[in-house]
Amino acid sequence: TTMLQVTDLGHTYGGDAGYTAIDDLSFTVNTGELVCIVGPSGCGKSTLLRAVSGLHRPSRGTVRLQDDPVNGVPEDLAVVFQDYSRSLFPWLTVAGNVEFPLRSRGIPAAQRKERAAEALEAVGLSAAAAKYPRQLSGGMQQRVSIARALACRPALLLMDEPFASVDAQTRAELEDLLLKVQREQDTTVLLVTHDIDESVYLAHRVLVLSTAPASVVADLPVDLPPE
Ligand code: ADP
Ligand code: ADP
Repeated sequence: TTMLQVTDLGHTYGGDAGYTAIDDLSFTVNTGELVCIVGPSGCGKSTLLRAVSGLHRPSRGTVRLQDDPVNGVPEDLAVVFQDYSRSLFPWLTVAGNVEFPLRSRGIPAAQRKERAAEALEAVGLSAAAAKYPRQLSGGMQQRVSIARALACRPALLLMDEPFASVDAQTRAELEDLLLKVQREQDTTVLLVTHDIDESVYLAHRVLVLSTAPASVVADLPVDLPPE
């Protein structure tokens, strides 16, 4: 079944006479797929993710999540950003950070604790639950961001250059962690990166964007990496 359907999406910054970042962009993501979007820096990847996540209203076109038009930020969607250092609340513990979005979703305390513990276990951070973000390395902080997204049990997980700010070894670990949780939890993932090697390693399918205004110039199936 189709999880996400983007049709004729376009975005122009600064009104009709402004700068067109994306144009005529169409693609679908099926349930359970891990799709990478790859394109050069400045081609419109973040603009696309902001439209898909409902953070920005696109100038043209439609975004449908499980057949419903996206209008505002949907609750069954979670986003992991590149900049882990600004995405966690420094005054909350690791567990507190993971529980935070569950609070605004009105999930009762006992269930929040259970889900946070489960998500932290999935990313190998159970032992760090009571620590504060500043006590963790960058890679561990990004694991917390991933746990926080997973705890929401999103229908669709959006990731914007999630491993671009960590060192090469941590990056390889986090990539394998993502593949593991994606398989185990059958999460649908749309991940944006400028790194073609990373996209081929991770994805079931790679969408290649042109330079701005971005449109999809190739839609490539990739063989699954060996178990
Ligand atoms: P990417 O994520 O692929 O690097 P972006 O979506 O951030 O690309 O940006 C695409 C283009 O749109 C870039 O040329 C960028 O300068 C421009 N752009 C992004 N945000 C804005 C904005 N708020 N106002 C004007 N131009 C913008
Ligand atoms: P990235 O490629 O990492 O998204 P960008 O430089 O494209 O980084 O954008 C960083 C931020 O600055 C984004 O929030 C974007 O909206 C904003 N931005 C980028 N280009 C412009 C621009 N020409 N005018 C106004 N804001 C911009």
